[in-house]
Amino acid sequence: MERSRGGVRMKVTKKGKGDPEIAVVYCTHGDETAGKKAVEDLLNSSPDFKKAVKFVFANQKAYKEGKRFIDTDLNRSFPGEVESPSYEERTAAKLVEELKDLKVLDIHETEVSPSPFALFTWFDEKTVETVRDTNLDRAVEISYTPGCGINIYGGVEVEVGPKGSEKAVEDALIILKQFLVNNGVLEGEVQRSEPEIYSVYSTQNRPTENPELKVENFETVEEGECIAELEVGGALFSEERFVPVLFGQSYPDILGFKSVRLEKVEERIYQ
Ligand SMILES: [Zn+2]
Repeated sequence: MERSRGGVRMKVTKKGKGDPEIAVVYCTHGDETAGKKAVEDLLNSSPDFKKAVKFVFANQKAYKEGKRFIDTDLNRSFPGEVESPSYEERTAAKLVEELKDLKVLDIHETEVSPSPFALFTWFDEKTVETVRDTNLDRAVEISYTPGCGINIYGGVEVEVGPKGSEKAVEDALIILKQFLVNNGVLEGEVQRSEPEIYSVYSTQNRPTENPELKVENFETVEEGECIAELEVGGALFSEERFVPVLFGQSYPDILGFKSVRLEKVEERIYQ
């Protein structure tokens, strides 16, 4: 069956005068709605936009259908392809065009705790500045995972949660406003964080049984420590010392990612 190509539905709302240098993306995953609500709350309050900004409703079609994605995970579909049979690969190509050379905040929602935290991939000055613009205490460097939007257009993802909660929307709105203040789009007090950085280097495989997690994100796991207890007795033990991140996210084949905590951000970032 021939699928219709093209026809990507992506709502872009521009505010403020001039050409935007700043963009806010939401609903990269159609079932993560906190960013959308936060953007709507902000726009409904009719703030005075001092500088131009664009708000990009990324996967409108998946949102309308109440799904994470239509054909392929958008955040694994970059750089994308305009003629692809995958709706998300076509969307990715359009997003890359839309976000070219902009400073981007991409708002996601997660079931993992604790949240919020930032995700980034590029060790360049603009990206680090964007991480600090979120004013968050923790940032995960995730160049390890291919196909993410931030691998291609730069920018920073933030994860708010727990998914579907009021807190997620409140956190998204705080981060969004501070990001816009820090970039001179909204009036307010500039506040930039010096976050702890966790660099992802590997994944933890998911055992076939339903595991009960015994580790906490951002807390060091020692070699030999129990990672998870398994349904039929027995347990999964760690083969090395690592810091778990994104454990508890419902990935199909992994429990989460292994990271190392970087002692000095600048040493890694500006080398
Ligand atoms: Zn997401």
